[in-house]
Amino acid sequence: MTSYAARAVNLKQKLWPDIHKDAWSDYRWQLRNRLTGRKGLSRLLRHAGQPERLESLDKCLSAYKWAATPYYISLIEKDIDRDPVALQVIPSPEEIGPARPHSSPDPLSEKRYSPFPGLIHRYKDRAVVLVSNHCASYCRHCNRKRTWNRPEFVPAGKTAWQAVTEYLENHSQIREVLVSGGDPLLLPQKYLENILDLLTSVPNVEVLRIGTRLPVVLPMAITDKLCRMLKKYRPIWINTHFNHPAEITKEAQRACERLQMSGIPLSNQSVLLKGVNDDFKTIKNLCCNLQKIMVRPYYLFHCDFVKGTDHFRTDIRKGIDIMEKMWGDTGGMCIPRYVVDLPGGMGKARVMPSDLERLDQDVATFKTFEGRVIKLHLS
Ligand code: SF4
Repeated sequence: MTSYAARAVNLKQKLWPDIHKDAWSDYRWQLRNRLTGRKGLSRLLRHAGQPERLESLDKCLSAYKWAATPYYISLIEKDIDRDPVALQVIPSPEEIGPARPHSSPDPLSEKRYSPFPGLIHRYKDRAVVLVSNHCASYCRHCNRKRTWNRPEFVPAGKTAWQAVTEYLENHSQIREVLVSGGDPLLLPQKYLENILDLLTSVPNVEVLRIGTRLPVVLPMAITDKLCRMLKKYRPIWINTHFNHPAEITKEAQRACERLQMSGIPLSNQSVLLKGVNDDFKTIKNLCCNLQKIMVRPYYLFHCDFVKGTDHFRTDIRKGIDIMEKMWGDTGGMCIPRYVVDLPGGMGKARVMPSDLERLDQDVATFKTFEGRVIKLHLS
């Protein structure tokens, strides 16, 4: 946890040399001082020693938004070509290169499963509500990057929110609502509170789940005040989105602790990203460090077939190999489920290697984590 933090001082010193630690720890300062757009990126690239990269990114900047918090930028080490944080946050010309034939802006067909913008109902007992299309930092691998410049994806105004609650009430099998976006926790607190009030006023909604990347990119925004508000809506679960051990800093740990101390359990969804975390050692470190800060590694997603993210997709066999090694090497609490969200909205599919080699009428044959073959007599 400390080694990355100790090395992560370089860009901070270059970009914000005189910043007082109180300002740095204030999420409002962080938001006011985000680097955004062409100007912000130019500043970052200049200080990272690669100003010439900017020219190749103009088209990309017109197609997709760019912003990053000073905190998240401060986690970047010198070499932005290989740094796992830089790769996630600095745009690449490959985002607007020719898309692979199976890539699409909406590969999960969320539009097809949206009775109206802002609500996705794919699985019988749960629904997703998109409450915002804004994020503190814009992850280049995001599977909703098509929504970044499109406010119409989010319900706005009383009538739109009434439609959401009516839909939830009219579909009494929906018991869990996933509050997503964009980043829900970036909304003004009172506005988010009103949304959570509305959602929990629906009698059949038993559980809320919030997806957020704030503990990763802006951990100082997880304030005691925010936690006190969220606590009122228990049972509420939060899914974080750590992808690399470099993101698990003291600040991130404190943010997670504040949520946990409010009685909110945390689990993590990572995406397998080429060059960022697609090797056994990194995923193992990530998951073990998550366990140390009491965040349960929940899903490891194969990178969706989203237009503009092809360069992040790694071979599924690599993911399987990582999962094989994880099983033999560390405890079950550290092992996420490796899944592919199938194109066309066909749902999540598990890509877990199995130790069951063969199942006969009376005998099940297993391969142990050390490679031995064991026959289990069933009768
Ligand atoms: S925080 Fe989530 S929604 Fe926002 S850009 Fe990153 S992955 Fe996409």
